[in-house]
Amino acid sequence: MGNTSNWGLCIKCKWWQVEPDAALASTTHGLCIEQSLQPYLLRVSGGSGCGLFVEGEPARADGSGACPPTAKPMR
Ligand code: SF4
Repeated sequence: MGNTSNWGLCIKCKWWQVEPDAALASTTHGLCIEQSLQPYLLRVSGGSGCGLFVEGEPARADGSGACPPTAKPMR
Protein backbone atom coordinates (compact mmCIF):
# COMPACT_ATOMS: atom_id res chain seq x y z
CA MET A 1 0.00 0.00 0.00
CA GLY A 2 1.02 3.62 -0.36
CA ASN A 3 2.21 6.04 2.24
CA THR A 4 -0.68 6.90 4.55
CA SER A 5 1.31 8.09 7.59
CA ASN A 6 2.15 11.50 6.06
CA TRP A 7 -1.10 11.92 4.15
CA GLY A 8 -2.56 15.41 4.36
CA LEU A 9 -4.65 17.98 2.53
CA CYS A 10 -3.21 20.38 -0.06
CA ILE A 11 -4.85 23.32 1.70
CA LYS A 12 -2.41 22.92 4.62
CA CYS A 13 0.62 21.80 2.56
CA LYS A 14 3.74 23.89 1.90
CA TRP A 15 3.90 22.38 -1.61
CA TRP A 16 0.58 23.84 -2.68
CA GLN A 17 0.93 27.01 -4.81
CA VAL A 18 -2.07 29.19 -5.60
CA GLU A 19 -2.82 32.49 -7.37
CA PRO A 20 -1.68 35.61 -5.45
CA ASP A 21 -5.26 36.61 -4.60
CA ALA A 22 -6.77 33.13 -4.19
CA ALA A 23 -8.82 32.24 -1.15
CA LEU A 24 -7.53 29.23 0.75
CA ALA A 25 -10.53 26.95 0.23
CA SER A 26 -11.21 23.31 -0.58
CA THR A 27 -12.55 24.36 -4.01
CA THR A 28 -9.56 26.57 -4.95
CA HIS A 29 -7.22 24.99 -7.50
CA GLY A 30 -3.46 25.39 -7.64
CA LEU A 31 -0.19 23.80 -8.68
CA CYS A 32 1.58 21.14 -6.61
CA ILE A 33 5.26 22.16 -6.43
CA GLU A 34 6.56 19.13 -4.53
CA GLN A 35 9.88 18.48 -6.33
CA SER A 36 9.22 14.94 -7.56
CA LEU A 37 5.80 15.98 -8.92
CA GLN A 38 6.91 19.22 -10.62
CA PRO A 39 7.42 17.60 -14.08
CA TYR A 40 3.73 16.65 -14.18
CA LEU A 41 2.26 20.15 -13.55
CA LEU A 42 -0.16 18.49 -11.14
CA ARG A 43 -3.14 20.77 -10.53
CA VAL A 44 -4.95 20.08 -7.27
CA SER A 45 -7.67 21.66 -5.16
CA GLY A 46 -7.47 22.58 -1.50
CA GLY A 47 -9.53 19.50 -0.75
CA SER A 48 -7.11 17.21 -2.59
CA GLY A 49 -4.27 15.52 -0.75
CA CYS A 50 -1.46 12.96 -0.86
CA GLY A 51 1.24 11.18 1.11
CA LEU A 52 3.95 13.73 0.23
CA PHE A 53 2.20 16.29 2.43
CA VAL A 54 4.35 18.67 4.49
CA GLU A 55 2.51 21.08 6.76
CA GLY A 56 3.02 24.75 5.94
CA GLU A 57 1.68 27.87 4.28
CA PRO A 58 0.86 27.54 0.56
CA ALA A 59 3.07 29.50 -1.85
CA ARG A 60 1.61 32.08 -4.25
CA ALA A 61 2.36 33.00 -7.88
CA ASP A 62 0.52 34.17 -11.00
CA GLY A 63 -0.57 31.29 -13.22
CA SER A 64 -0.69 28.69 -10.44
CA GLY A 65 -4.36 28.01 -11.10
CA ALA A 66 -4.26 27.97 -14.90
CA CYS A 67 -4.99 24.89 -17.10
CA PRO A 68 -2.24 23.86 -17.45
CA PRO A 69 -0.47 25.84 -14.70
CA THR A 70 2.00 28.41 -16.09
CA ALA A 71 3.65 29.52 -12.82
CA LYS A 72 7.21 28.61 -11.89
CA PRO A 73 7.57 26.82 -8.53
CA MET A 74 8.36 29.42 -5.87
CA ARG A 75 10.09 26.97 -3.49
S1 SF4 B 1 -0.57 16.91 -3.91
FE1 SF4 B 1 0.47 16.29 -2.00
S2 SF4 B 1 2.49 17.33 -1.99
FE2 SF4 B 1 1.16 18.32 -3.54
S3 SF4 B 1 0.22 20.08 -2.46
FE3 SF4 B 1 -1.21 18.34 -2.29
S4 SF4 B 1 -0.68 17.31 -0.35
FE4 SF4 B 1 1.05 18.66 -0.90
